[in-house]
This record gives sequence, C-alpha cells and structure tokens, in this order.
Amino acid sequence: MQNTMMNFPLTLTHLLKRAGQLFGGSEIVSRLPDKSLHRYTYRDFQRRASALAGALQQLGIKKGERVATLMWNHYAHLETYFAAPCAGSVLHTLNLRLHPDDIAFIVNHAQDRFLIVDDVLLPLYEKFKAQTKFEHVIAVPLTKQPVAAGYDDYEKLLANAPAFDPPPLNENDACGMCYTSGTTGKPKGVVYSHRSTVLHALATSTVDYMGIGNRDTLCPVVPMFHVNAWGLPYSAAMMGAKIAFPGPHLDAVNLLDLMVAENVTVSAGVPTIWMGVLQAVEKEPARWKLAPGLRMVCGGAAAPEALIRAMDRYGMRVIHGWGMTELSPLGALNFIKRELTDLTRDEEYAVRAKQGVAPPFVELRTMAESGEAPWDGVAMGELQVRGPWVAAGYHELPSESDQWTADGWFRTGDIAIMDEHGYMKIADRIKDLVKSGGEWISSVDLENALMAHPAVAEAAVIAVPHPRWDERPVAVVVLKPGANATPDALRDHLEPKFAKFWLPDDYKFVDAIPKTSTGKMLKATLRSQYAKLFIS
Ligand code: AMP
Repeated sequence: MQNTMMNFPLTLTHLLKRAGQLFGGSEIVSRLPDKSLHRYTYRDFQRRASALAGALQQLGIKKGERVATLMWNHYAHLETYFAAPCAGSVLHTLNLRLHPDDIAFIVNHAQDRFLIVDDVLLPLYEKFKAQTKFEHVIAVPLTKQPVAAGYDDYEKLLANAPAFDPPPLNENDACGMCYTSGTTGKPKGVVYSHRSTVLHALATSTVDYMGIGNRDTLCPVVPMFHVNAWGLPYSAAMMGAKIAFPGPHLDAVNLLDLMVAENVTVSAGVPTIWMGVLQAVEKEPARWKLAPGLRMVCGGAAAPEALIRAMDRYGMRVIHGWGMTELSPLGALNFIKRELTDLTRDEEYAVRAKQGVAPPFVELRTMAESGEAPWDGVAMGELQVRGPWVAAGYHELPSESDQWTADGWFRTGDIAIMDEHGYMKIADRIKDLVKSGGEWISSVDLENALMAHPAVAEAAVIAVPHPRWDERPVAVVVLKPGANATPDALRDHLEPKFAKFWLPDDYKFVDAIPKTSTGKMLKATLRSQYAKLFIS
C-alpha cells in the first residue's frame, strides 16, 4: 500500500522563510569588536540572508560548492549559515583558533571556493592567503571601516544583490561541513545534509533536551566554527527565539554583562567557559542579576559535578551534554527522568554529572573490545552510535572507514558506562584510559573528584609508563588563585572515594593545562611531558 503523505523536503530554505514570516519581530543582538551592540530582527535577517544567497549565486557559486567562513559569532555569520545552504552551496566554518597552516590544509582539502571573513580577522587570513586560492574573499565590515582593496565588501554585495530565486533542493543535499578538532592526527571533514541539520534542530529543541522556545533568549558562547555552535543557530531560527551573540568577547565579565543586559535564558559552551563564569560570580556575587532559571548547556568535555553544584548556588543550571563533530553534535543530554524524581540531592547530582540520555532517533550502545559482551559484566565499553544526524563517512578519506562497524555503527573512541535508566556516562577517551596492572582506571572520574577539592581549579589525570604496573595515573593540577594544597592533602581527599590502586602516584602543580582550540585538555602533550617520570 502506498502512503498518501506529501514528500515535503526537510531543508533550511523552509526555516529561513519561516523565521522571517512568523518571527519577524524577534530580535538578534550581536556584540561587535568595539563592544557596541548591533541589533535587528528576524525580518531583517531573512531579507539580508536572502540577499546574500542571491549575491553568492550572482558570483557564480554552484550546487555543492563550498563557501568558507572565518568569523566570530554574530548576525553576519548567521546570515551566511542560511544563505550558503539555501543557495545550494555548502557552509564550511573554519576554526580561527587553529594554526594558519592547519587552516590552509583544511581549506584545500575541502576545496573551498569563496571565503567570507570578518574584517578584524583579515590579518589571520593574510597568514595563510598564499597557501590558498579563493576565487572571492568577501570581507564583513564589522568595524564600519571601508573594506580594503582586493576584497569584496559584504555590505555592498548585499545592497546590490539580485532577487534571490531559491533553487530546488533535495533534503539529502549537502548543506554544511565541519572538520574535527581532534587531539591527535589530521582533521577530518564531516558533511551535513539539510535533512540531518533540520532533524537535529528539531530534536535538540524539544523540552527535555535544549528546550529552545520562542520566548527564550539564547546566547551561543560555543563558537559558530565548532560544530555549527552545536546547531543552536538553526534551533533558534526554527523557533524564533531571540539570540544574543557575544562576538569576539568571550571572557566571563563580558558574557555575564551580555546575559544580564539581554535577559538571556539559555546559553551553551564548554566547561572552561563556565569555570571562568563561576570564578567571576564567586568574586562578585552581587554584581550580576541573571534571568531566573538560566540554563547553561555544557559539553565538549566532561562537566565536573563540582561545577554543576557550584553554579546551582548562583542560579545557573548546568545541563550536561555529550556530542561530537560527527554527530552534528548532539548524542546525549541530561534531564532527570520521572522515574528518578525521588532521588536525594547527592544522588541527583551524581545523575546530573552523567552525560545524559540519547535524543530521539539516536541509538547508543557500549561494546566490549572483542564484540558483543560488555566488559566485566557491567555495561561499559566503547561507545557506538547511529542515527540520522550521525556521519556515515568522512569527506574524501575512505581510509578512515574502520571508524564504522560492519553493522553500520560509528565508533566514537569514547569509553562509556550505561546505567539501568539509560543514562550514559563517559569514562574516558580510549586513548586516555589508564591501564594499571591489567585493570582500567578512569581518568575522568579522578579529575572530577579532584575538581571537587576546594583548592583545585582544574585537574588532568594521565597515564604514565611504569616498569611494574605498565601505566600509573599522575594528576596534573591547577590550583585556584591564592589557594594551597599538598599532594598528601589531595590524596587524602581522593582516598575515601576510590580503590587504592586508582590513586595517582604523583601530583604535578602547573599554572595551566594545555587545551585544544575547542577547549579539550591536551593530554597527549602532558603524557609526553611526564613520560619519563617512572622510567628513565
Ligand atoms: P568534537 O568533535 O571536537 O566535539 O569532540 C568530540 C569528543 O569530545 C567526544 O568524542 C568526547 O571525547 C569529548 N566530549 C564531548 N562532550 C563531552 C562530555 N560531556 N564529557 C566528556 N567528553 C566529552
């Protein structure tokens, strides 16, 4: 029997039209490099994004070709988020924190044709310009200074754009691409489709997940070059939520000022950002009057339980989530299920520190090294995932096909534990696990416990080669400003919580833990730094 339903394509073209037609009055606010605020509405946004789409077509962009961006989080980036895909081309966001040589590698691997760049980032572009061959470089005059010779002026292009005639799009057409920010190896490109992006936006907006509604004001702190700011610009436009973009001003004080001024109700960023925000409010508790019920989605790296508890004290609810570039990125998000409403406060915090529950259409499983059976009889093993917004391959890298299992699941490279309620908890990256005397030790659990010590700002636990035990854990610790703690004090703090063999053999105090461009601890760097600690 044939169904009688319309085959209406799931494309961003619909979301752009909807944003202008239904939510024309909602505001989009952007903090500019000079700290002034740019304000306009979804009506203006839809008009300008359509004009940009028309301009891109006029410049000759063809279906499936890449339009790269080198931009902070602001209105013009949002316009490009919609204009490039609606014109049939592919939005490719470049990570401006990478080394210029790495950006050039990615541009060339993706075969980007056009570049849209903030005028304040032109000095960065100049550093890799010689290694790339863009046909058009379009500069956004955020500083309101005339655009330098040799570049197309974004505003002039928009002012002179022909009427946009949306091309017919299939929901499976490519709409965006993003490279992984891996801690090792070359970056790998993931290509999203209109369908995967729309379904991801729909699922992430539901109440138990990020719950983005029309009356929310969203502040996406996570950069728009990091997995499409977790898809939030698309969710916000779909629901007509107000957006407050922080531009390049990502320090705690500027973020808090923006959140108060614009009455932000939901935000999203990596733990490092929220740790900075926490330190700022702890220093001046009366300074910021944040919106009641403010939610901060926190992912990209593990959110320590101590952070979740401390932020609660200041009325900021941290919502833990897990994702990957290959997952668009949402793979799990934390909410308290109705069967868990009787928990004690401590039990509830333990649940909230887990990475959460898979959203609809995402399936998670934990697999033992050898196959089906979970390790040691508990549901711990390599986390594998499948779903409509999970990558099925990398852009022009067939050699990486072993990241997918024969039965079609993506191997995440994370080790996770599933509890009986379906909450997933990340124990480690496979390559970060510590293997001591044949037993596994979770570095993430030790780090979370260390970060609950009042003197500890941040901690990384790494595996260090050991002549007798193969590997032993070593803790690398950053203390809070003015705080003191000895290795013995930290050991005493951990002792009641862990088996003896889990306790780190050494504690190294450092000023900062090296991080990747997207806020993940660079444990490989620490491992090589301390590689000779126990063997010479
Ligand atoms: P990326 O593709 O840059 O977003 O990195 C994805 C990786 O970040 C995952 O495979 C995890 O190892 C790590 N990650 C993301 N979110 C979390 C989280 N909430 N807790 C622990 N690790 C996380």
